Amino acid sequence: MNPLLRDWNTPYQTPPFQLIETAHFKPAVEEAIKSAAEEIKTIAENREPADFENTIAALDRSGNRLGDVTALLFNLNSAETSSSLQEVARDVSPLLARFSNDITLNQKLFERVKKIYDSRQKSGLNTEQKMLVEKNYRNFILGGAGLGEEKKKRFREISEELSRLSVKFEENILEDTNSFELHLTDRNDLSGLPEGAMEMAAMEAANRSKDGWVFTLQFPSYIPFMQYCDNRALREKMFKAWSSRAFHGDKNDNRILVKEIVNLRLELSNILGFSNFAELTLGDRMADTTIKVETFLKELHTASSPAAHRDFENIRKFALENGHTSKLERWDWAYYSEKLRKLKYDIDDEVLKPYFVLENAEKAIFSLATTLYGIQFIKNDSIPVYNKEVRVWEVLDADGTFLAIMYADYFPRAGKNSGAWMTAYREQRKENVKDIRPLISIVANFTRPTDTKPSLLTFNEITTFLHEFGHALHGMLTRCTYESLSGTSVARDFVELPSQFMENFAYEKEWLSAWAVHYQTGERIPAYIIEKIKESSTFNEGYACNRQLGFGFLDMAWHTLTAPVTDDIVAFESAAMKDTELFPAVEGTSTSSSFAHVFAGGYAAGYYGYKWAEVLDADAFYHFREKGIFNSEVAASFRRNILEKGGTDKPMNLYIGFRGKEPTINAFLERSGLKTPQAPKCNTSE
Ligand SMILES: [Zn+2]
Repeated sequence: MNPLLRDWNTPYQTPPFQLIETAHFKPAVEEAIKSAAEEIKTIAENREPADFENTIAALDRSGNRLGDVTALLFNLNSAETSSSLQEVARDVSPLLARFSNDITLNQKLFERVKKIYDSRQKSGLNTEQKMLVEKNYRNFILGGAGLGEEKKKRFREISEELSRLSVKFEENILEDTNSFELHLTDRNDLSGLPEGAMEMAAMEAANRSKDGWVFTLQFPSYIPFMQYCDNRALREKMFKAWSSRAFHGDKNDNRILVKEIVNLRLELSNILGFSNFAELTLGDRMADTTIKVETFLKELHTASSPAAHRDFENIRKFALENGHTSKLERWDWAYYSEKLRKLKYDIDDEVLKPYFVLENAEKAIFSLATTLYGIQFIKNDSIPVYNKEVRVWEVLDADGTFLAIMYADYFPRAGKNSGAWMTAYREQRKENVKDIRPLISIVANFTRPTDTKPSLLTFNEITTFLHEFGHALHGMLTRCTYESLSGTSVARDFVELPSQFMENFAYEKEWLSAWAVHYQTGERIPAYIIEKIKESSTFNEGYACNRQLGFGFLDMAWHTLTAPVTDDIVAFESAAMKDTELFPAVEGTSTSSSFAHVFAGGYAAGYYGYKWAEVLDADAFYHFREKGIFNSEVAASFRRNILEKGGTDKPMNLYIGFRGKEPTINAFLERSGLKTPQAPKCNTSE
């Protein structure tokens, strides 16, 4: 018998990893789709008139087995994969896509959903239920459900063409990234570069059967080259290669694709009844209109622009004092910034790591959660895991009630994706009165222990740990009724609030100095190091903020067009980014042609979200700071209004519930050192 199709007789119905084999997945997915399709059919063909319970709630409750099996498959495929598991994932993906299309295009089902949607204001539904109705309706609408046959056909053509174009867009960038190399044979050209970067370049050359050194446009090669190479002409060459990717007028050129993608997105939006693509995308966001996003970007730009100019001037002056004689160009920025950063804050990972033992960080992060929310972490080794390195805890509330299972899988292995993430094996939901509690996991690629050293984390790994743990809290503390709204199922520009909020603690002396001790000497982390960590975090933030805003403006400019674009893309982007441009334009380069976030990734009309989330978490943390960063009342309010609520209300309502008002940019400006000093007040009346 396939264990994926049986009830799991394990503690808390956790996945019985030890019984599961790769071969179990495909038949289980097929079987689970079949029964989910039956459930959908029953809902769609119900003779009773449509109501919330028999349609919307029933949809939410359907497909639980399929959810369990696919969560397991895709989580393992990210954390512990093999070529055979990857093959299964590839095989079942089209089946799942078809199943989900069959739901959205089920006309009978859509009519029931629409009926409930149309009468949602006067049918006595509570806020959570209304949110669920709106979410369902929006899914159907964006899937083309409301369209007549002709429009439906065009909708499908456009959707397919768009997915083809974004794949092509990314391929073009990739080809241009990979086809470039800077081959050096004169050791003098390497002046300034650190040993590690030279070694890597020598290896790259050897791999290509060449003498000397090869630098590429891959990040680990490109970034140190731009930061350290003394030879300015070579930096210029590298920069131009980087910034002209997919912009060489050959078969990999993306400029036509940019226009095609933008124009098709506009047509798609019009077919679905929106005036532009941003309007379509932002509908369920916290910043839910184009006006809100544009106002936000402009406000932040006005406030941070003096700091950007100040940063620029600082680097320009520093460059002049250090032998630079001409105009500062883009290829000089990283080089002089790095030199000044080193001069001002000479702390690097090698200094910090001995204080950041993984086990201590884990204990400190759990106990932070205990301080804030009263929750407890009880290790439970009887719960099955997929790899012996995975740790498991039962998470209990202050009164001992069971809240969640948390898995943590810290170290890199073959078969694990790079990066760090939080995920769920099961989301929280209620079945009648029974509360099905979630199974949450955090996965990372932290520095491994060695024979002589424990796992010592970099500062960046500490903030990553806090970040993913913040998502985990959002997943574990949730108390909702419907699975599609529980935990982290919230608006995209709201989902990073709980995670980024937690990162703030890494800069707090009160927290860091309580646990960070040197693994050999036991010495507490010195106060001056914490000070430097904090100061260096604002270095060149004005410039960085300005740059991000520039991308945000560009993204919005492309996606608020209401007529097809015919202009030259470079002219278009320089108009969109003119207020944030500090450097002279560089002939032959383009931002849009390699702007994969918005033309190939999921950030179209969403790039602003990076800054939006920062503003939000700074504002939230400021509220804690006012009352004490460990204040349990403020924490209880954060928990009650945000962490427990998932997507059961509009994000702005949830936020105001916690904060008492809408967020402002002030705390963000202050934290990032972007506040312009106030002119001294002049009191003339006395
Ligand atoms: Zn995140």
